[in-house]
Amino acid sequence: MKPPVCIICDKRLDYPDEGGLIYFKKRASDREWKERMERDGMVGHPPFAEWFCEKHYKRALKLKDLTKDKAMKQLQI
Ligand SMILES: [Zn+2]
Repeated sequence: MKPPVCIICDKRLDYPDEGGLIYFKKRASDREWKERMERDGMVGHPPFAEWFCEKHYKRALKLKDLTKDKAMKQLQI
């Protein structure tokens, strides 16, 4: 897992931050990543998950049914 730092503003999520990790809709490449990790018994930070601080978490949560690249484009406007 990556350290909990907001992907948008680089703020570190210190407890008690209301933010958290959001898992976006998986792309084909994300499904392949997951299968490969499970097959090899490895763990790692999923390419379709990102940390958001409390300021950005709620907006990001509304976009979690999008793939990460699409959600990030909307969030960074
Ligand atoms: Zn943030």
